[in-house]
Amino acid sequence: MEYETVIGLEIHAQLKTESKIFCGCSTKFGAPPNHNTCPVCLGMPGVLPVLNRKVVEYTLSMALATHCTIAPFSRFARKNYFYPDLPKGYQISQYELPLSEHGYVDIRTKEGVRRVGITRIHMEEDAGKLIHDERKNVSYVDFNRTGVPLIEIVTEPDLRSAEEAATFTRNLRAMLQYLEICDGNMEEGSLRCDANISIRPKGSRELGVKTEIKNMNSFRFVQRALEYEAERQREILEDGGTIVQETRLWDSAKNATFSMRTKEYAHDYRYFPDPDLVPLAIPQEWIEQIRASLPELPEQKKERFVREYGIPEADAEVLTSSRAMADYYESCVRLFPQAKTVSNWIMTELLRELKKDEREIEDCPMTPEALTGLLRLIEDRTISGKIAKGVFEEMYREGRSALEVVEEKGLRQVTDEGQIRAVIRQVLEAHPKEVVDYRGGKEKLLGFFVGQVMKATQGKANPRMVNQLLREELNRE
Ligand code: ADP
Ligand code: ZN
Ligand code: MG
Repeated sequence: MEYETVIGLEIHAQLKTESKIFCGCSTKFGAPPNHNTCPVCLGMPGVLPVLNRKVVEYTLSMALATHCTIAPFSRFARKNYFYPDLPKGYQISQYELPLSEHGYVDIRTKEGVRRVGITRIHMEEDAGKLIHDERKNVSYVDFNRTGVPLIEIVTEPDLRSAEEAATFTRNLRAMLQYLEICDGNMEEGSLRCDANISIRPKGSRELGVKTEIKNMNSFRFVQRALEYEAERQREILEDGGTIVQETRLWDSAKNATFSMRTKEYAHDYRYFPDPDLVPLAIPQEWIEQIRASLPELPEQKKERFVREYGIPEADAEVLTSSRAMADYYESCVRLFPQAKTVSNWIMTELLRELKKDEREIEDCPMTPEALTGLLRLIEDRTISGKIAKGVFEEMYREGRSALEVVEEKGLRQVTDEGQIRAVIRQVLEAHPKEVVDYRGGKEKLLGFFVGQVMKATQGKANPRMVNQLLREELNRE
C-alpha cells in the first residue's frame, strides 16, 4: 500500500523585544542566572502583569505578513501545569480567543506551489530554564527567560513530506527575520519547532493518528526526524499494528525518535481567561498602520530580483533566503552592476566557503567591496577567471583585498603579445611530433598546446590570446 505523510507544525518564535512580555525586565541573553527577574516574572503573590505593547505590534506584523485575520477581540488565558521552571504554576498564553487566525504561507515544492494554512498565531510567555549538573547530581533553575515573549504559529495539517516541513520552517524563519522580530536562531532556541505527523493510505481524506515530535533544533534535524518518524509509522501499520498518539523526542546522536509521554489533552491544562489582564481590542487604524509599514518580504523580494536583475528564479531563491544575504547581494550589484556574475560568485565560491566554516553571511569575512574588487580585476583582465578563484580563497581566509593578493603573488595576467608568443615558440620547439600531428589534421591537440603554455606561465597568460596566437603560430608553415 502507498502511504501519504501529513504534517502540521507548531512553531515558537522568541520576539526580539527589549523587555519581557508582562514586566520591565530585560530579555538580554547571557546575563548571570536569575539577574533579569522581578516579582512579576518570578510569579510572586499579589503582582500584576502589564502587557508590552511592542509584543502586540510584532505579533500583528507576522499575522499580517501571513495573511491572518486579526481578531477584533482577543484575550489571554492561563495554561495550568506544574513544573520547576514555571514559578506561577501557570503559563500566560492565548487559547480560545487568539490574536489572529486563518492565514497562509505559500511554499515552493517539487510539485509546484503549496499553500500551507496558518491556523492561528498567538502570544505567550516563555518558561525558565533548568540546568542539570549530573556530576553534582543537582539541578539549577534560571528564571531569566521566564516571561520572554513568544509567538506560537500553528499550521493546518497541510504539509506532505519532511522536506516540505523543512522548507516551510526555513521560509517562516526568513519572514521573521525580514520583519526583524525574531533572530531565528534554532540552536539557541529562539526558534523552536514541534511537528505533528501521521500517515494515511494515499487518496484517503481521513487523518491518521498523529505523533508529536519535539527537540529538533536545526532544519536538517526537522527533516531527518520527520523522515524517520514517517518510516517508523509505516512499518507499524504494515505489520498490522496501531499508532499510539504520543509525544516523541528526536535524538540526533541516535538518529531516531523516542517516546517521551503519551499525549496530554487540553482539559489537563484547565485553561481559563486570565483575570489579571484586560481583553485586547485592536483598533483598525493600528492594523492599517502596521500593514502599511511591513517591509518587502522574501517572496516579493525574490520576484523583484528576477524582474530587476534578470537573474534566474533559482538564484533569486537562494539570494533572498535571508535578509542579510539579499542585502549583501544588492550591495555587490550596486558596486559592480553585472547581476548574474555577482550571483554566480556568491552562489558558488562564497557560499561554499561559508558552508565550510559553518558561518552565516552576517559573519562573512569578505565585504561586498572586496568581492566586487576581485570581479573588477577579472573584468579589466588584470587576472583570469581561473586565477581569480585562487585569489578569492586567499582573500576570504586572510581578509585582504584582491589587488594586494594579486600584487604580492605576482598573479597579474600576461597580456603582452611578444611575451606570450615567445613562450608559444618554446613550447612548439619542445614538442615537434605534436606539431607535425596537428598540422597533419589532429586539431584536438590545440588543447594540449594551450595547457603547456598555461603551465609555462603558471596560468597567468591570457587564455584568449594564447588560443589565438597558438593558432597563428601553428598555421604558419
Ligand atoms: P492537539 O489537540 O493534539 O494539540 P491540534 O488539532 O490542536 O492537536 O493540532 C496541533 C497540530 O497538529 C496542528 O499543527 C495540526 O495541523 C496538526 N495535526 C492535527 N492532526 C494531525 C494529524 N492527524 N496528522 C498530522 N498533523 C496533525
Ligand atoms: Zn520581571
Ligand atoms: Mg492543540
